[in-house]
Amino acid sequence: MDNSYTDEIIDRLSSIYDLSILKDEFLHFENPYQILIATILSAQTTDKSVNSVTRELFFKYPGVNELADAEQTDIERIIYVTGFFHAKAKNIIATAKILKTSFNGIIPGTSELLMTLPGVGRKTALIVLENAFGIIDGIAVDTHVKRVSMRLGLTDSSDPVKIEKDLLLIFKKSHWGRINRLFIIHGRRICSAKKPLCERCIISDLCKWDKKSMDRAGIEPAASTMPR
Ligand code: SF4
Repeated sequence: MDNSYTDEIIDRLSSIYDLSILKDEFLHFENPYQILIATILSAQTTDKSVNSVTRELFFKYPGVNELADAEQTDIERIIYVTGFFHAKAKNIIATAKILKTSFNGIIPGTSELLMTLPGVGRKTALIVLENAFGIIDGIAVDTHVKRVSMRLGLTDSSDPVKIEKDLLLIFKKSHWGRINRLFIIHGRRICSAKKPLCERCIISDLCKWDKKSMDRAGIEPAASTMPR
């Protein structure tokens, strides 16, 4: 697969999704501590759900030191709606304790060090690196990136680790930092898991999915619309 194909995917998605004005649709944060904790909380839930709890969480626990000394039951109460609240509360307190004792309260700036923290896998590490430090060290593969990549035919694998390796090979490095958010927005708005709107999809002619449907009448192409 040459770069012209993947360039075309990025160009078309970028033409309808202006990432600079879509920030509110992703995790809200103001500093590296906040994006780290918010991303740990985002496992198995939506950014909207996380954003609904982080205002209170970061007001009450504004930094690593405060969170390290938190009562787990209080954290569980605050983050309850994000699901898996026992494990998540335990993880973010443990992460804060490690940051306080081993990293001087500073969020580390490499994926290797970030992945030593409880609740931090490669996807979380990549999101933190990009948002906190502007470091693009790979492509974060979440459920939307996985689904859109598989349907487009960019990978044969359903394993996020292998999917990332495939994407890194076929997309230019200059595009790595956009793929996660472009595919997430496209997955949320058009290429949904249950009912993809292939008729409105701006990259339908580039898509290899054999179940794509183009026969729903009366729907305008995506280029002229921004369904939410
Ligand atoms: S054509 Fe359909 S399946 Fe393919 S990327 Fe677009 S919405 Fe998804």
